[in-house]
Amino acid sequence: MRRVGFAVLVLMATVAQAARAQASPSEPWFSVMLPPPVVYHELEVLSERPAAPAVVPTGEERFTELAGASMQRDLATIVDFAKESRRTREVGDGGIWGRITGFPSGNRTIEWATEQFRRAGIRDVELQSFSQAANAGITLPVSWEVRVLGDAAFGAGTRDVVLESAMPLSDPDLHPEGIIAPLVYVGTATPAELARVDVRGKVAVQKAIPQAHTVFIRDPVGPRAQDLLERGAVAVLTVIDLPGNLRVNDMGCGSGPCFNLGGRDGLFLEQILSAAAERGTPDAVRVRLRLDNERFAGLASHNGVAVIPGTSRPDEYIVLNAHADSWFDGAGDNGDGLAVLVALARHFARRDVRMERSVVFVASAGHHSAGLSGPGNFVAMNPDIVENAVLFVNLEHTAQRNITPARTAHEDGYREWTMDTGESPIVGGLTNMAPFLEDRIQRGIERYGTNFVSGPNTTASGEGGTYSRTGVPVFTTIQGPPMYHTTGEVLEMVSTPGMERMARFMAWYVREVSKAPAASIDPN
Ligand SMILES: [Zn+2]
Repeated sequence: MRRVGFAVLVLMATVAQAARAQASPSEPWFSVMLPPPVVYHELEVLSERPAAPAVVPTGEERFTELAGASMQRDLATIVDFAKESRRTREVGDGGIWGRITGFPSGNRTIEWATEQFRRAGIRDVELQSFSQAANAGITLPVSWEVRVLGDAAFGAGTRDVVLESAMPLSDPDLHPEGIIAPLVYVGTATPAELARVDVRGKVAVQKAIPQAHTVFIRDPVGPRAQDLLERGAVAVLTVIDLPGNLRVNDMGCGSGPCFNLGGRDGLFLEQILSAAAERGTPDAVRVRLRLDNERFAGLASHNGVAVIPGTSRPDEYIVLNAHADSWFDGAGDNGDGLAVLVALARHFARRDVRMERSVVFVASAGHHSAGLSGPGNFVAMNPDIVENAVLFVNLEHTAQRNITPARTAHEDGYREWTMDTGESPIVGGLTNMAPFLEDRIQRGIERYGTNFVSGPNTTASGEGGTYSRTGVPVFTTIQGPPMYHTTGEVLEMVSTPGMERMARFMAWYVREVSKAPAASIDPN
């Protein structure tokens, strides 16, 4: 009898314990590990092997201005303009920073590049100023918060968690009290997944996994966020599954409130929502969203323009452009392109390197700040050059290293990322696909090992698109890599030999184009 009574007691105690565990886990947040604090300007990727060295063909060793080390120093200077923007809280609470055209960070970067053109010995150097049209302005988020609301039912001591990687994407401010609503996880938000989910009145959490190019997931991510809003979601959180806990200023979602979240914050949400679902309370976890935007108008900026006259055809121009603006540190977008441009200006300013045609360098105000377009103002302010240009070259995102998920995963489920020794794929877009120009791209790849994607294409990007409207052929080098428009685009993400590969490739390419007949450059 006593033995049976003991067994019953033990059984009852076990049931009571299980019931308590169900009612309230002993650890906060269902015992899920909290996301780590966000650290800025730090590499979030494993990097043990150095980047593959640049190839220097015989006879080109003397072009030391194209060596990676000097571009690396310039890149550090360029990234510092952005870091300063964060230190000084140039915009609002300092949650977004960069080299922002119209703000001191962006304008000083262009002034610095212009000074480098002068120091290279180029005589014809000009800072061409312009200001925003009366009706133009840019809206930037100045203050925001995504706060997951704690509840003792999720475990004793469960406190609110602020998701520090949150990045707002929508223009309208939220009500001063913000939005408070339950979260619902919708996977990748395909119609098949949404067929069984009711998002009405809830904040939908969708997940996006960038592959080699983050820029290529704008579609479907943006339209799917819009679809979620149309189905009745009050807001959308998009987890951009990238290394660490990065802030991502891209994608967008149209009309409603949307925020991006970094990989670690996303993993936390995924795990607590799974835990809540397993306990039969899928709608229990709530979030509070807050957002204030500000419109900035009446801004002014400039392009830095330098011209090196050609020896035999000075009235024909090859124009090399790199935009100076960035979101966040922007080492890859477009610090590396600007560093390559400055190195090329030093190269073509050499007395022993003379081109038949004139070569023009544009440190461009870029394309992030509405009403202050770098290419648009260059075209408007330099009709003589544009009319007699034979080729525009747009150096954009030229040497960011490639990354892939690493083999090992942490015990909390987070998977580390690791670097390749090479660059992430570079799109080599040529608007007119002229056989001569394509042939020289191919020969350049063979000479220098630049990692262009396979196959000719006409990609012109935001910056190159404006130039292409002039009817002049445009050659664009552009990566849309994983760290594109994120806080992960730090100095160490850029390959020093990668910049050298691109600079030596482009120096050779421009030399080839400079001596070619006009009919080869543009047969149409
Ligand atoms: Zn760019």
